[in-house]
Amino acid sequence: MRRLLIAGNWKMNCGPYDAAELLEGLKAKKAEVDEHVDVLVCPPFVSIGMAVKYLYDTDIQVGAQNLHFEENGAFTGEISGSMLAESGCNYVIIGHSERRQYFGETDETVNRRTQKALKHKLAPIICVGESLKQRKAGDHYDLVKDQIKAALNGINEEQVLDVVIAYEPIWAIGTGETATPGQAQEMHEYIRKILAGLYNQETADSVNILYGGSMKPANAQELLSQPDVDGGLIGGASLDADSFSEIITIAEDLA
Ligand code: PEP
Repeated sequence: MRRLLIAGNWKMNCGPYDAAELLEGLKAKKAEVDEHVDVLVCPPFVSIGMAVKYLYDTDIQVGAQNLHFEENGAFTGEISGSMLAESGCNYVIIGHSERRQYFGETDETVNRRTQKALKHKLAPIICVGESLKQRKAGDHYDLVKDQIKAALNGINEEQVLDVVIAYEPIWAIGTGETATPGQAQEMHEYIRKILAGLYNQETADSVNILYGGSMKPANAQELLSQPDVDGGLIGGASLDADSFSEIITIAEDLA
């Protein structure tokens, strides 16, 4: 029922020239993707046009790393949902922990951005996850529950089918440290339970829940084999065409 989604978050890497080079490499290896797997790259805003142009004849989709929650107007430096849709994006990452940590993103703004993304037919990839301190204190379940409930406030049962949740424990992002497959499965199962409580079991069973945090070819197979892990949001390893395409191949073999 759920298709695996392998999504690359390039963060603040790869302007248009570097993007072209990376995409050339990726295209050479993975222009065609198994029909049961979705593949996505999320470049910085200035490289979205280049990515859409390079990938138009492939199965690889393009998304953004953020959007503003207003339609347009005097918001210097911001990018709206309609601009992203017009540029060829069909996904957008929302509430990444780096945005929560460095740019004042709150549960409330995550919710406003989610509403706006859905309005413009951009599938929101909503990031949730705890710090090491929160995990050690045993607060991780409550924190993730609060983040999800706030992000989905006002989102109805039909809309949530287009939402993707990414569980990204902060202690595993860019650190080389990965959640064990058991830790990932445990939290993903819990997230699905939250969704079943907010909506119903059938809806919860249809929502994609990605794992993010130092996923790489060496650990992708074990993580992606977990029953409630429906793909990966991949930072570092998505900047290398070989690593990213290897992860896609692992997903294809599991699909
Ligand atoms: C991310 O940025 O969403 C991420 C998971 O990064 P990394 O794979 O580098 O840990």
